[in-house]
Amino acid sequence: MVKKGLLERLTEGPVVGDGSYVFTLEKRTYVMAGPWTPEVVVEHPDAVKQLHREYIRAGADVVQAFTFYSTDDKLNLPGHEAGATITCKELNHMACTIAKEVVGVSDVLICGALSPTPSYTEGRGKETVQREFRKQVEVFVEHDVDFLLAEFIGYIEEAEWAIELLKSTGKPVACTLRTGPVGDNSGVPPGECAVRMAKAGADVIGVNCKFDPTTCLKTVALMKAALEREGLSPFLMVQPVGFHCPEVEMEHEGYGMLPENPFALEPRQLTRFDVHKFARAAYELGVRYIGGCCGFEPHHIRAISEELSAERGGKLGEGSRKHVPWGGALTSSVLGTNRAKASREHWERVQPASGRPGHPNLQNKLMD
Ligand SMILES: [Zn+2]
Repeated sequence: MVKKGLLERLTEGPVVGDGSYVFTLEKRTYVMAGPWTPEVVVEHPDAVKQLHREYIRAGADVVQAFTFYSTDDKLNLPGHEAGATITCKELNHMACTIAKEVVGVSDVLICGALSPTPSYTEGRGKETVQREFRKQVEVFVEHDVDFLLAEFIGYIEEAEWAIELLKSTGKPVACTLRTGPVGDNSGVPPGECAVRMAKAGADVIGVNCKFDPTTCLKTVALMKAALEREGLSPFLMVQPVGFHCPEVEMEHEGYGMLPENPFALEPRQLTRFDVHKFARAAYELGVRYIGGCCGFEPHHIRAISEELSAERGGKLGEGSRKHVPWGGALTSSVLGTNRAKASREHWERVQPASGRPGHPNLQNKLMD
């Protein structure tokens, strides 16, 4: 089968991304919080394969090879154990091998993704930063992944250096910043960041991580307006966190400012219905690559796929055979209390409680 490429698919309609890896695999006991490095691809490859399979089953059009934070400079930071036994190239090779095995001959695209380098924030300069990026990209090219992504980038300048290097491969290039409405970590507003990413040659631009869907879409709207003013029209992409966190909208560090991040966020988790709303709003804004970051689980990806099924020619993941949107399958429950919830009206009306008496609705003290 000849697969359609990413850009052709984005021209035709929405592309459903996948969900969280590092956050989800930490909860599943395979990743160490703190370093957040991906040596699980070597230690427990089956755990990564299973998560890829779940996102595909949910309806994802893409799996990202699990290479987050795999650069050698990151693996060897103080307190990080992985660098003593494994290199970036070995990790990325394994991550690509796993993704290819799971995708097999299916229609799912494989994404090779770069994450930010400590060398950038340490001020080591363009040559050093691009050397770290190049080691990753060489593996992605050897494995002939379908497209490349630089994600979770905090500074527009580092994004430009990444895009320049990724473009040299000739593959489609996406780039997402971990930025909210206040702009990147050096204070460059989102609109200017978007224009610079597009001018650097990125085919797909947007934001990922740090902020919830509502905030991410506000940021993408600012990006879109600036691009239109400049007559630029890259595809737009959004992969927010799966937790409600409106309090941090105007913080650079996003949900990192919440005292309960990263280990007590569960009460903030999006429901599948929140994700329906997000997917529709993103599509209406003109975003065409719609997925999730930390906290987005397979059922959230299924919600994106189901919400935008009509826009994708009726396409659904295998997993939708075990699911009727908006509680439809509850009509066959033996429990009357569940049968009473078998309607869209119910699920649109319900306001989920946290079940924690005395807890605030919103965090009243952020981290300093
Ligand atoms: Zn994330």
